[in-house]
Amino acid sequence: MFTHYRTQGFILKKNDRGESNQLLTIYTKDFGKLEILGRAIRKISSKLRSGAELFYLSEIEFIQGKTHKTLTDAILINNFKNLRKDLTRLTITYKISEVFDRLVSGQESDKKLWQLLNETFTKLNDCQSSITEASTEVKKKESSSTVDCQLLYHYFLWNFLSLLGYQSGFYRCSLCQKRLFPEKLYFSAKEGGIICSQCQKKTKSETLIVFPDIVKIIRILLKKDWTFLGKLKVEIKDLNSLRTISNYYLSEVLEQVE
Ligand SMILES: [Zn+2]
Repeated sequence: MFTHYRTQGFILKKNDRGESNQLLTIYTKDFGKLEILGRAIRKISSKLRSGAELFYLSEIEFIQGKTHKTLTDAILINNFKNLRKDLTRLTITYKISEVFDRLVSGQESDKKLWQLLNETFTKLNDCQSSITEASTEVKKKESSSTVDCQLLYHYFLWNFLSLLGYQSGFYRCSLCQKRLFPEKLYFSAKEGGIICSQCQKKTKSETLIVFPDIVKIIRILLKKDWTFLGKLKVEIKDLNSLRTISNYYLSEVLEQVE
C-alpha cells in the first residue's frame, strides 16, 4: 500500500513525458518543491487535467513510489484566470515561475516562500497593465488601489532574493555601513546591496550605478507597503532602470548557483 499525501500547491512547470504523461513541478505548502508525474494527464478523459493546469493553485494528492511521485488527485482552488488574459501578465508569471524553480531546490516547506508566491500570484491577478505593449506611454491609472503589473515582477524578485538570503542593505552602505544619502550610488551584486561612492572607488568588484529614486523604489518593494505600492506610479525610465538592476542581480545570483 502506498501512502497518500495531500497538500496545496502551485503548478509551476509542466514537461511532457512519453505519449500522454507529464512531469509537473509543483511548489507545495507542506513539502516544498516537488516533481510529480501526472500519468495519462494529457488524455482528454483524464480527471486530473481540470486541477493541474499551469499556474493553478490546487489541492493535490500524490503517492510516493520507489522512483517517483505520482499524482492521484488535483482539485482546483484558484485558477488566477487574469494571468492568462494579456501577454504582459503571462510573461511575468512565466518569469516568476522560472526564477522560483531555478533558485528553490530543496524538498522543504517554507512558509515565507509560500506566502510570497501566493501573494504575488494574487496581486498579479488583480493588477493593472498600465503600460501598453506597443507604446511606451503610461496610461493614467484608473484606480489607485491596484499595483502596476510590471512592478510586481520586481516586487517578487527583490523579496524572493531577500528571503533566500542574498541581500544586505539598501539603507546603509554594504561595505562601510554609513547611512546612504540621495546621491550617486552603486549596486554591488557581490554584496547584494548598495555601496557609497567612496567605497566604490576602493572596491575591485563590479558595480552598477543606481539612481536614488531606484533605491527608494526597491526599499518600498521590500517594505511590502501595499497602500503605498498601489499609489506608486513608476515612470518608464525608472522602470527601465529597475529592470536593468533586477536583471543584472538575478543573472549574478544564477551564475553563483548554477
Ligand atoms: Zn561605503
